[in-house]
Amino acid sequence: MKKNYIKKSLMFFKDLKYKLIILAVLYLIIGVFSFASPIIEASLITSITDNLVVSVVAIAIGFLIIKMLSEWLWYIVYLFWQKKIKRNILNNVRTYIVDNMLELQLSNYDKYTTGFFQERIKNDPNDIARVANASQGYLINILTNISVIIYIFTINIVLGLIYVEGLILATIIDTYKQKIIKEKNRKLKLSEEKVNSKLSETVRGIRDIKLLNLKESTRNSLISDLEENNLIGIDKDSYAIKSGKLLRMTLFLTVFTVIIVGINYVNQNLITPADLIVLYLYNSQVFALMQNVSNLKNSYKEYELAIERIFDLTDSEKHKKDEFGKIHIDDFKGNIEFKNVSFGYTKNKKVLNNLNMKIKANETVAIVGSSGSGKTTIFNLISYAYKADEGEVKLDNININDLDEKTIRNNVSIITQNPYIFNLSIKDNLKLVKPTATNKELEDVCKKASIHDYIMSLPDKYDTLLGEGGINLSGGQKQRLAIARALLKENKILLFDEATSALDNVTQKEIQDSIEKISDYYTIIIVAHRLSTIINCDKIFFLENGEIVDSGTHEELLQKNKNYKKLYKTELL
Ligand code: ADP
Repeated sequence: MKKNYIKKSLMFFKDLKYKLIILAVLYLIIGVFSFASPIIEASLITSITDNLVVSVVAIAIGFLIIKMLSEWLWYIVYLFWQKKIKRNILNNVRTYIVDNMLELQLSNYDKYTTGFFQERIKNDPNDIARVANASQGYLINILTNISVIIYIFTINIVLGLIYVEGLILATIIDTYKQKIIKEKNRKLKLSEEKVNSKLSETVRGIRDIKLLNLKESTRNSLISDLEENNLIGIDKDSYAIKSGKLLRMTLFLTVFTVIIVGINYVNQNLITPADLIVLYLYNSQVFALMQNVSNLKNSYKEYELAIERIFDLTDSEKHKKDEFGKIHIDDFKGNIEFKNVSFGYTKNKKVLNNLNMKIKANETVAIVGSSGSGKTTIFNLISYAYKADEGEVKLDNININDLDEKTIRNNVSIITQNPYIFNLSIKDNLKLVKPTATNKELEDVCKKASIHDYIMSLPDKYDTLLGEGGINLSGGQKQRLAIARALLKENKILLFDEATSALDNVTQKEIQDSIEKISDYYTIIIVAHRLSTIINCDKIFFLENGEIVDSGTHEELLQKNKNYKKLYKTELL
């Protein structure tokens, strides 16, 4: 699975092949410079000690040029990466995610928080780009480090072996260190989670803590947990520093041994003094191999994780994509029918059970039932956020599964308790659904939705900015603006998810008025949590445990259904 993802992820770099090769070449030049620097430095030092003035000047100039070039090359690499590559990678990955995200079935959005999607769009692509760049750098570094080790062996095999031994010892220490640090990190994380949850519990329960006089015990337990967390942190840090020092000791001892054995070889004329200086200067390059390999390994892991998170969202069975049929209805009327419909969010719990319901075009009906009886679920099926497991949901006598995206999305609107209003002006919020709408059209729909008068009372009228940096609408005003938006979209079916108790009576009345004004031209279904608001509907469906147990007008239901009567009475109390 993961292997496939890695292969698939190459598509993000497809159009960047040549640029990545150029970047690799630039890194390679830097690598060659860092390989050559110690050799030049060594010959500079020996020329100085041999008093060869001309050579010293020539080598010093060469050295200066290489150092300066190397500095600027880093800058060029940075610019080239940022401007020519990173931007493209981010663009490729983000476009891929956004395109796929918009195709996801609405049901996926019920399962995840906004943070989940933000993380995938903002952070994961960044991780991919960062890791792609870093890995290239680490890879070239590793190549340089290995070249250095090979070069050392060509100077002297014994000294090469001393270095390699030191490197192996350091690697063993480092592996052990990483293991322990991982464990200590895990402990620290657990303790942090414990402290955080205790802190938030304390804040949430502060009222009871005070009233029950639990101040003393809460304080002691909080302070002791914080102290413990602090100690674990100190323990982890001091271990990291201690083991870091041990690693450096290994390095010092190795270099010391190389110098002592090396001087012996110089005395025996087996190597030149310049060779010994080069060997000494290469010590950091040799030991960097360990760090570079571990960095590359970590980068690969990070890359794998980011790729997995992205493709899990876009490709896996877990996140189903929208599937629409092919039939398009031009002259959509707005008839709705549920025929033996069964549905459950999970396999083992049915929410709708063999449900039958017929709503004719332009009817205004209500669905009534206790909380959790499946009212909102019916909306989810009509708006095609979820598909029925069994039976048929039909719009204008055609199975919704066979209808195309436009027919469904352009004809069904849900007006929720808290509709989403964009941070734009009122006019632009409306025009989103119909960019060609004239001012008169906007005013007409707002009048029908009983929001026009309020808009005209605002200083900037239809140009008033909403949301952040603008005006915050109340719940009822948002709902009315959403009604206007749905009317402008010329949807035939309007689904109202009536607020449980949030709206005050005046607001509720205004929304009812606006529903009444438009009720002759639209199929309207109201999910009613308060029966008093829907007694005028053409028909009321009474829902119990996912089944329509009765239907009729308010009066009829009061006569024939005891449970309905009971529900109505409870509300009047
Ligand atoms: P109502 O609108 O009548 O209060 P719903 O249709 O919202 O009821 O819910 C019916 C049942 O389905 C409830 O038991 C509820 O917990 C469950 N349910 C609703 N939405 C989901 C969901 N997205 N995932 C899983 N279960 C859900």
